[in-house]
Amino acid sequence: MPLPENIAHETRVAHGSGDAVDPYRDLVPPIHLASTYERARDGSYPGGRLYSRDQNPSYDPVEALLCRLESGSDALLFASGMAAASAVLQALRPGDRIVAPRFAYWAWRNWLREFATRWQLDVALYDNGDADDLAGKLAEAPTRLLWIETPANPTWEVTDIALAVARAHAAGALVVVDSTVATPVLSQPLLLGADIVLHSATKYLNGHSDVVAGALVCRENNSLWECIRRQRSAGGAVIGPFEAWLLLRGMRTLFLRVRTASANALGIAHFLVDHAAVAEVLYPGLPSHPGHDVAVRQMAGGFGGMLSVRLVAGEQAARVVAGRLRVFKQATSLGSVESLVEHRASVEGSGTLCPADLLRFSVGIEALDDLIADLRQALAAIAG
Ligand SMILES: *Cc1c(COP(=O)(O)O)cnc(C)c1O
Repeated sequence: MPLPENIAHETRVAHGSGDAVDPYRDLVPPIHLASTYERARDGSYPGGRLYSRDQNPSYDPVEALLCRLESGSDALLFASGMAAASAVLQALRPGDRIVAPRFAYWAWRNWLREFATRWQLDVALYDNGDADDLAGKLAEAPTRLLWIETPANPTWEVTDIALAVARAHAAGALVVVDSTVATPVLSQPLLLGADIVLHSATKYLNGHSDVVAGALVCRENNSLWECIRRQRSAGGAVIGPFEAWLLLRGMRTLFLRVRTASANALGIAHFLVDHAAVAEVLYPGLPSHPGHDVAVRQMAGGFGGMLSVRLVAGEQAARVVAGRLRVFKQATSLGSVESLVEHRASVEGSGTLCPADLLRFSVGIEALDDLIADLRQALAAIAG
């Protein structure tokens, strides 16, 4: 029986694709491995597929589910979050202006800087969390695209999506929101008027540190989206069928994972705020965070699993703490079931805007007491 239409997102996600698959009524969709499809005698394609570069049926249930979760009209899977992001930028024309955040996922910022020069894009950077600066950058010159990442790496500053969209649209710009950290569980940028939402599906959507994938979802099918679609098809940055299948499997527990990680992160934030070794806790769930008020409006059911701290004793102490943690694994990436810690500045390398005394935590779904005990013992190593 097909699922009813009027069910909560978490119900549909728990069911994965939603409907059993003919002819065997599999409750889990099969993986389609074929790279090519047979034509009929008259030359037509009775299966509706021609070639698997970007027409693999294994994508269909995942894209359909993402479309529903984000209330979009179309979704595209990519080989990685960066492949999804670069498909958007490659859909721009030389001379196009993009207004982008000063703080954002580092690899994307670096790539933008390099690619923008060669593609002759005009890039203006705004201060995250400063709505007036964003508006000022939009007013400076005709802009094709506004890029938002919220909460943004690695200080989790929050951008008011609805306000930014209103200003961007009034200025004739389209809006892309990298919602990797917020996930569709906590916020839905397309419902706030954004044109495209981006996910590194490597992170929360898959959630198990075993798939690299990306996704875009659009509010409506416009000419930019058609260009992005052609870029995926011709550029070929496509995900493998097994990875698409694993992603759908991971997504079935998305709501459980994100809610537990958010609750754990809030508990950890409260613990760290009172710790003598900690100078500052950066987490949108804390009233002291500059983005808290917007986050309360924009994120429902939690503030996410990402938080950072700055240590009183500085960079060397931060590195010592990262090395002393045992439940938090010292590794890059985020959004998985296991907790991770990272000395972010040393990962980003030269030119980083990340403070050297900052540790970035991706909080997982372990017992909160174990996570706090781990932090307590690691911070004790730098006491005195
Ligand atoms: C990881 C990440 C990306 C890039 O995604 P990949 O899947 O690693 O290519 C983009 N944006 C954010 C916010 C990320 O965390």
